[in-house]
Amino acid sequence: MFLKKTKLKFLLYSLSKTLYNFPIVEEYMIDFYKVTPQELEFWLKSAGEPAYRKKQIFDWVYHQSVCDLELMTNLSWDLREKLKQNFSLNSFDLVRQMDSYDGQTTKFLWRLADGSYVESVLIRSDNRRTVCVSSQVGCPARCAFCASGQKGFMRNLSSAEIVEQVVKINRELAKINERVSHIVYMGMGEPLKNTESVISSIRQMCDEELLNLSQRRVTVSTVGIVEGIRRLQKEELKVSLVLSLHAPNQHVRKKIIPYARKYPLDEIIAGIEQYARRTKRNATYEYILIEGVNDQEKHAWELCELLEGKQCTVNLIPYNPVPGVRLRRPKTKAIRNFQRILEKNRVTVTCRYTKGDDIAAACGQLALQEETELAS
Ligand code: SAH
Repeated sequence: MFLKKTKLKFLLYSLSKTLYNFPIVEEYMIDFYKVTPQELEFWLKSAGEPAYRKKQIFDWVYHQSVCDLELMTNLSWDLREKLKQNFSLNSFDLVRQMDSYDGQTTKFLWRLADGSYVESVLIRSDNRRTVCVSSQVGCPARCAFCASGQKGFMRNLSSAEIVEQVVKINRELAKINERVSHIVYMGMGEPLKNTESVISSIRQMCDEELLNLSQRRVTVSTVGIVEGIRRLQKEELKVSLVLSLHAPNQHVRKKIIPYARKYPLDEIIAGIEQYARRTKRNATYEYILIEGVNDQEKHAWELCELLEGKQCTVNLIPYNPVPGVRLRRPKTKAIRNFQRILEKNRVTVTCRYTKGDDIAAACGQLALQEETELAS
């Protein structure tokens, strides 16, 4: 489908150039980050360029993280000119970059071409350089505890806009000889409500000629969209799939996650387990602990029952306060108690205090802050 569209664009480009010598109009610009190796090969051929240029171009963009055509000095002037007229390598700008006090987390706020804001977070731990990417502007899930959905849903990001977040962060890391090693789809948006772009972006980032990331180092987090889980299963990807569970039963879940009304918990868990079996990994469940909502002992016991006999890991995340939301983080004692009950019942559990609290690093918080500041 895309190949057809791209071919059409190239055809129009060639026609306008050769027959009428029309100037190239903006709307024919192609986002470079969605161009596959085969498509670039095709373009180079139709532009009368030798095939070895493909490797040189990808090397600049994806390995050296250079996005300015002027700096790609081993390409002929003529080729750079053609690339400039056809491809966009910079579709959005960095508005703000904030480091957490401990220097482990950096948040990047981007302004997209249409003026909307999204964010990405870089998390450093040991040798890992993990980027948390956004998949949508706003979020249709509107979970009670999350900043992303507070202003509603604006639009899906394109696969190129997702890949560009990583390329731009790689450009920052290149200054200190580092590279992004892991990706998590846990920024703004519900990835499985934008499945096509998410899948294409994974394929792009994991292509060995492009960013060459291992699929096993990519994690998609979902609120539990049953048809999306099935779609990912069909694609035969090896990425990890994580469920934002946040409740031990359908009743509590419905209170904090509106999509729970549409997708029953047993169907979601069946899908997640099936996916985990195919990828030969433990299923992972995220559980944000919110005082008085899902943090009591009875909830911990119920959670053990729900997960009994399943090969899985539970990540407990104490709620990170979101301005304007009247929910609270439980006391440390309650968190420890919850964790202990799970451990006693042989559920593998980790407790993750949200990194970068001081820079509003929880999902969607910075973009929300920016929009609120602009509106006031
Ligand atoms: N829509 C997807 C991806 C968004 S990331 C999903 O629901 O999984 C969602 C994750 O962001 C949650 O699982 C949690 O880890 C984190 N998160 C969102 N709001 C949070 C908050 N207020 N406090 C702590 N973690 C939060």
